[in-house]
Amino acid sequence: MRLDQIEHATSNLPQHREVTALEDEARTLDTQLVNSRTALSDVQRDVDKSEADVQLVRDRAARDRARLDAGTGTAKDLQAIQHELTSLARRQSELEDIELEVMERAEGLAADVARLEAARAELAVRVGELEALRDKAFAELDAEVEQIGHSRADIVAGVGDELVRLYEKIRASSGGIGAAVLRQRRCEGCRLELNQVDINRLTAAAPDEVLRCEECRRILVRTADSGL
Ligand SMILES: [Zn+2]
Repeated sequence: MRLDQIEHATSNLPQHREVTALEDEARTLDTQLVNSRTALSDVQRDVDKSEADVQLVRDRAARDRARLDAGTGTAKDLQAIQHELTSLARRQSELEDIELEVMERAEGLAADVARLEAARAELAVRVGELEALRDKAFAELDAEVEQIGHSRADIVAGVGDELVRLYEKIRASSGGIGAAVLRQRRCEGCRLELNQVDINRLTAAAPDEVLRCEECRRILVRTADSGL
């Protein structure tokens, strides 16, 4: 039956599977993003600390140079300052190497974060598009289920035993589908479009007359969308 096919199609929509797969991918990316952002903020703290360390040494050296320039103090004092300036320069060089290294690590991590954010944004767009396609497919299947429900109700309510027997007979000989909706001049059973002569005949038929498709002989169910 078409209803079984619809049920199968509803639970096996390819878009549904793709959305689920992409959502898994999105969760993985989110985890990677959290990790990368955390690592970046840790390294950023190291960068800040390195900068502060270097600045301390620079300030100290600047004060020493000011004292040398002022020329006050004994020769021994000045020699001691000179000596300290030499070791401060070495210390500054070491600290700047460390600073450079953590800055490079920060840059690498910032690039990771940017790359992950871009991938995440792109994924969000793809998920959105797929969800729209999936929901459209769901809506179409739902509409068809509703249509079939109406068709059945029409058949059961509006007809007697004779038509039910006819329906069962056609159903047995037509692959399980005894009646088909006539939609936009097309028999939904055999998918063939009716010719103008048939359409004229159907249009002229009484509302309670049993109509059959000329091609597949199924009972045709008229709706507002039949094109009559
Ligand atoms: Zn047909």
